[in-house]
Amino acid sequence: MSLLKILDDITAESKLLNDKQKPFKLWMPKRVVFTADAIKEPYGEKIYERIKGLGLPIEVAQNNRITGLRGKDERETYRIAKSTLAIVNTPPSAFNLRPIPPSADWQFHLAEGCPAHCQYCYLAGSLSGPPAIRVFANLPQILQNTIRFQRLNQVVSYEASCYTDPLSLEHLTGGLEETIKFFAEQPNTHLRFVTKFDNVDSLIRLDHNGKTRFRCSLNADIVSKRLEGGTPSVQSRLAALRKMALPKSLGGGGYPVGVVLAPIIPVPNWEMHYSKLLDDIETHLNFETDLTFELITHRFTPGSRDILLGWYPNTSLDFGEENRAIKRNKFGGHKYVFVKDLMTQLKTFFQNEISRRFPNAKILYWT
Ligand code: SF4
Repeated sequence: MSLLKILDDITAESKLLNDKQKPFKLWMPKRVVFTADAIKEPYGEKIYERIKGLGLPIEVAQNNRITGLRGKDERETYRIAKSTLAIVNTPPSAFNLRPIPPSADWQFHLAEGCPAHCQYCYLAGSLSGPPAIRVFANLPQILQNTIRFQRLNQVVSYEASCYTDPLSLEHLTGGLEETIKFFAEQPNTHLRFVTKFDNVDSLIRLDHNGKTRFRCSLNADIVSKRLEGGTPSVQSRLAALRKMALPKSLGGGGYPVGVVLAPIIPVPNWEMHYSKLLDDIETHLNFETDLTFELITHRFTPGSRDILLGWYPNTSLDFGEENRAIKRNKFGGHKYVFVKDLMTQLKTFFQNEISRRFPNAKILYWT
């Protein structure tokens, strides 16, 4: 390798490292409540010690109910709930895992709720009640339970981010670390989670045994800046993705990684904005890596639209029905997706642009 090439590489690396964004402040709840059962769990106690160490005020309830989450109107309820962390036990029904196609064979939950404020949030309408953040203190039992779903000679995949962004809570719970270490020891399993957060340092040093795929949720900068409140910038997420994917020998996490582009929204000049994003991903992953893509266009149900408009009445997100087609499900419900011509245009663009830049990456699905 020539000296010039080495200098070029070093300059490129320092540019990436020095491309500093305003530092993102991790979420600190205003209120932390443990239920009576949760505080008795050994993992609940660990969370208690962590949170005490952070100097946050802690309440321990006399029973297993979390109260005081409702305000005088929807906006106030949202504000109160989104600043509350509740540590609870899952009900027994959570041990009957449900499938989650096309992402994975099964889903299980470390927590429900998320401290960020994305104006299209996928959780709206999926979780009932005020959107407080509930972390499960019986995580060790939840993890043990996944063993029941393993199959001999067949890799079984588990998705851990259906109802939360688990990395958004890692500084408060250490739950992902427990989960990654657990799956590292399991035969024929594959753990997946997706995040918009960038606090990956505690995960880099773990021995994950290649069993966990770290997926980074990204969007065009213009979409992220307008719609993704309370999340690190796209550039910070890209830096986290790079750290997680870099081989251990180069100081990275050596994880298989993925990019989830969601929700894809055809804003004006969308080709230019998304090309820039794909260019940035290419710059940050300029080495051999096990990479997948998941491509999800923006969609909403009438119910999720009502909830989101209640939470974010001034949103610039287009919930109009123009350019939308109705997609029905087998339960009689429906959602709004983009019309067929627009879908085809978007799909062709992303498939071509991804295959050209990342010939070895797999596109897992388009929806
Ligand atoms: S990061 Fe994900 S779960 Fe959290 S608010 Fe945004 S869309 Fe919802």
